[in-house]
Amino acid sequence: MIGPELKFKGQVVIVTGSSSGIGKACAIHFANQGAKVVVNYSSNAEAGKDTVDEIVKRGGEAILVKADVSREDDVLAMFRETINKFGRLDVLISNAGLQKDAPFLEMTLQEWQKVIDVNLTGMFLCCRAAARQFLAQEKAAEGTSHSELSIGKIVMMSSVHDIIPWAGHVNYAASKGGIMMFMKSISQELAPHKIRVNSVSPGAIKTPINKEVWSDPAKYDELMNLIPYKRIGTPQDVAKAVAWLASDDSDYVNGETLYIDGGMTLYPEFSDNG
Ligand code: NAD
Repeated sequence: MIGPELKFKGQVVIVTGSSSGIGKACAIHFANQGAKVVVNYSSNAEAGKDTVDEIVKRGGEAILVKADVSREDDVLAMFRETINKFGRLDVLISNAGLQKDAPFLEMTLQEWQKVIDVNLTGMFLCCRAAARQFLAQEKAAEGTSHSELSIGKIVMMSSVHDIIPWAGHVNYAASKGGIMMFMKSISQELAPHKIRVNSVSPGAIKTPINKEVWSDPAKYDELMNLIPYKRIGTPQDVAKAVAWLASDDSDYVNGETLYIDGGMTLYPEFSDNG
């Protein structure tokens, strides 16, 4: 069943990387609130189909689109398919991301490049396509809408590692730090067009990306030293915050990063007097 509060009724939402983890939770959360959702995956079609099936089972609407966000032709095709199917776009959740960890001294160019390509260039390609679409549909509707509200919303999936340095993961931290300035700069550029751009920065969220930490009790206990709120986050914790940033409830919020981290960015090592 679709939930009682249909904040996104009739709106079309693309969630990149929604075959798993946080993206999957976002896709389901938006569908529960009435959105038509484009579920994107890059390699695991079965997992992408699971997300679509879950939405349809609850009475929602979704399509599955294969696209590698780091490839321009794939991204353009995904946006074309969205418009062909649903006729418009209202929200982009640019979520797809990955890690290829290695000590800096041993990191290969390939490991560096892959993470930058998916996590940062993927944002550029998807956000540019979304902004162009928002403007094109606004132009086509010229004069018919008298709303003061945003004509299109973008939420990027960053990480606490856009401000917390991360040894052994320099490609990932550099990509997320890059998202911070990319997000703020395009927000500044697109705000006059009434396009809102913001990001969320999750801390430790229980998804396949960090399974080796939360599935090992000793590592989980160690992780809790970094989280004042003393629990790992859930994909739903993130999805709810993402939905707020994509909704008209946050219409006056531009270029902000919302940390969803149980206090991880509060310098917990100083909680006992340093
Ligand atoms: P996940 O591995 O469960 O999901 C990643 C998703 O991205 C998958 O659906 C995957 O198919 C997709 N993806 C990977 N490469 C892609 C590509 N080239 N094109 C399209 N899709 C691609 O991990 P997650 O934890 O859900 O991660 C989602 C986002 O959240 C990432 O950007 C990640 O950096 C960010 N994040 C996660 C955490 C956490 O603790 N889980 C914390 C901070 C930020």
